[in-house]
Amino acid sequence: MRTLIKNGTVVTATDTYKGDVLVEDEKVSTIGSSLDIAADKTIDASGKYVLPGGIDVHTHMDMPFGGSKSSDDFETGTRAAAFGGTTTIVDFAIQYRGQTLHHAMEAWAKKAEGKAVCDYGFHMIITELNDQVEGEMDALVRQGITSLKLFMAYTGVFMLDDASIFKALLRTGKNGGSICMHAENGGVIDVLVQRALAEGKTAPKYHALTRPARAEAEATHRAIALAEIADVPIYIVHLSAAEALEMVTEARDRGLPANAETCPQYLFLSYDNYEEPGFNGAKYVMSPPLREKAKQDQLWRGLAFNDLQVISTDHCPFCMKEQKELGLNDFSKIPNGAPGVETRMSLVYDGGVRAGRISLNRFVELTSTSPARIFGMFPRKGTIAPGSDADIVVFDPNRTVTLAAKTLHMNVDYNPYEGRRVTGATDTVLSRGRLVIEDGKFVGRAGAGSFVKRATRS
Ligand SMILES: [Zn+2]
Repeated sequence: MRTLIKNGTVVTATDTYKGDVLVEDEKVSTIGSSLDIAADKTIDASGKYVLPGGIDVHTHMDMPFGGSKSSDDFETGTRAAAFGGTTTIVDFAIQYRGQTLHHAMEAWAKKAEGKAVCDYGFHMIITELNDQVEGEMDALVRQGITSLKLFMAYTGVFMLDDASIFKALLRTGKNGGSICMHAENGGVIDVLVQRALAEGKTAPKYHALTRPARAEAEATHRAIALAEIADVPIYIVHLSAAEALEMVTEARDRGLPANAETCPQYLFLSYDNYEEPGFNGAKYVMSPPLREKAKQDQLWRGLAFNDLQVISTDHCPFCMKEQKELGLNDFSKIPNGAPGVETRMSLVYDGGVRAGRISLNRFVELTSTSPARIFGMFPRKGTIAPGSDADIVVFDPNRTVTLAAKTLHMNVDYNPYEGRRVTGATDTVLSRGRLVIEDGKFVGRAGAGSFVKRATRS
């Protein structure tokens, strides 16, 4: 099977040029100007960008949370991702206390198999670390689940103490894996939540008011310090606070291998959304919470100057009806999370590239190349080059769309960006050479996506 993408502008993290891309079976085989080669299928990309498929290294499909479950499964979630120009996700498998890592891996593999329309990998969330689990970490890394996620928040559910975190970090120094950290001070947050509830403060906005930026900055600093003592890299997930970014910047200025991601919601939404009337603030209940609008420029500077390396989504949708509503009378019972996997590329292109905050190449780097590198998928994914997987997005930089829950494809009854107009949209998507989206229509197949075995740190 040969597919020829003609007349487009190929954009990678480093280059922008007019070129034709020939795909043979699952791989990019040739790139050249005016390729005159017979193909089974020709795609005209005149006036469009030809981008490496987006990579979203932070999603939660089919994830149980507080008596509910995220409303996208691997089928609806990866289909929505593809509509938005994302061809690979890295989701989180969860080891619950008393379970082995192997059990967790099997459980999540089952959720994805036969469902995912494009490729997926897993991080492993570790909620209990004993000698046996530590031993299992090595096997997991060998099987291509090379990153583990630990929590410094959610006491009694996900949170690990510093000693366990430190042990896990040390282990990754030996087995070539890496640690992703949810950095918020869980103990402080618990006290603030209990105090707010005791004072009768139950509205959604108190979710944000009980999770101060400094609690994120403190945990970020501590996570980096623990990694420094263990002499291993660290990756901070969903960094939202400028105060936390300062900790990452300071560490990087000292030459430490500290990386961090942020998400579109922290760039385009703010605390003000929690003040929306009625229970609407629940739409934005996520952890960490949305921050002050005035601080967003600092995150953009971090993205431009590489103190932040990745934009992921933390896609974790819950419907307002019956799910978010669980917290109608108590903000601490609102399921944490929001939809985002489908809107990332357009939002960042529109608000980043078009607004002059980041370059076109930096856009590709933040949404594809850099996550591929950090998480052991490069150069198989994250670029357009001979021999790489043909995960390719034909992106129209001039098409304007209005974001709305009704027309988007995520399985959730609201959208945090409802009514927002963005310019720059995905037209056509290939996943390992197969068409998944063609001119805005889904032509893929559930189960076509496969597990990506990721490499260890080299
Ligand atoms: Zn998350």
